[in-house]
Amino acid sequence: MSEQHSTNESPADDAPSHREVVIIGSGPAGLTAAIYTARADLAPLVIEGEPSSTSDQPGGQLMLTTEVENFPGFSEGIMGPQLMTEMRAQAARFGAEIVTAKVSRVELAERPFCIWIGDPEAAKPTHTADAVIVSTGARSVMLGLEAEQRLIGHGLSTCATCDGFFFRDQEIAVVGGGDSALEEAGFLTKFASKVTLIHRRDELRASKIMQQRAFDNSRIEFAWNSVVDDVLGETKVEGLSLRDTRTNETRILPVTGVFIAIGHRPNTDLFTGVLDMDEAGYLVTGADRSTTNVDGVFACGDVQDHTYRQAVTAAASGCMAAIDAERWLESRTD
Ligand code: NAP
Repeated sequence: MSEQHSTNESPADDAPSHREVVIIGSGPAGLTAAIYTARADLAPLVIEGEPSSTSDQPGGQLMLTTEVENFPGFSEGIMGPQLMTEMRAQAARFGAEIVTAKVSRVELAERPFCIWIGDPEAAKPTHTADAVIVSTGARSVMLGLEAEQRLIGHGLSTCATCDGFFFRDQEIAVVGGGDSALEEAGFLTKFASKVTLIHRRDELRASKIMQQRAFDNSRIEFAWNSVVDDVLGETKVEGLSLRDTRTNETRILPVTGVFIAIGHRPNTDLFTGVLDMDEAGYLVTGADRSTTNVDGVFACGDVQDHTYRQAVTAAASGCMAAIDAERWLESRTD
């Protein structure tokens, strides 16, 4: 971690520090963009975020994952946080500067672009940039239980594709009633002996075809009108305390795993009204490109992808953003 730079110093009295490229966010997308832009001699600055809770920390969602077995290049798998440490060190090796801080404000109407860390009302930005790569990611919506912080990566997961494999022949649960929950439940039946879908109402939100597939799947059972009051287990998931919303009766569902699939939120508040977003708040990028509606601002990773949401696809789009930014900087005439 020797590459980590302190960010508490406030350059408010000084001129903003200028970079050709500033990357906001440090998951697989941002760090891959950093590796590529650093190797292109663009001396990128990565503003990696800072921890504000167990579920919100630099490095993105892989920091909440235990074993990652589907990232190519690691035949025996690698722990999520270790993978991020390696990516971070790789970016630093080529000269990327990484600061542990959160961006509080951006001004993207004119170039150079202005970026604030700390007081968003400060007269001067802390940084300016010719090009900005946005890789702020997305977060899974959680139930808000204390146990989620404790057990995520230890039987509690937000990604069936990533973690389903670990639940072979086990009884597990999925929470949610939308397309994501049903898709995850269906996928998980490849491994688990039984998947209980826990939904807070007696009617699913998911599309009819997904519903029919779930109803036809003999390994999926439904806990209707049920909410999770608690996830049981100190160091690994041992069961769920479910409450019937009609009778208020509680019961224990003995499961070794639980997947929370109640939606995702992209981290795009900073860019409201500035960068084009879809109705769910994801940044809109050009077809097969990382370009946004603002010339010189690029987006990659989960902040613009609600379809694949994989570390490897995020990393790939980080590479695209770096190449798009490099070419844009080269072709610029102003
Ligand atoms: P979603 O459609 O918003 O569904 C979220 C589900 O979680 C709802 O059933 C909701 O219950 C439940 N929920 C929300 N907050 C909850 C809480 N605090 N406690 C318990 N349950 C809670 O989200 P999504 O399923 O992630 O889908 C997002 C979008 O992606 C949708 O447009 C979906 O169609 C699309 N998508 C498509 C596919 C596909 O076509 N293959 C796959 C995945 C996602 P209520 O129903 O009671 O509100």
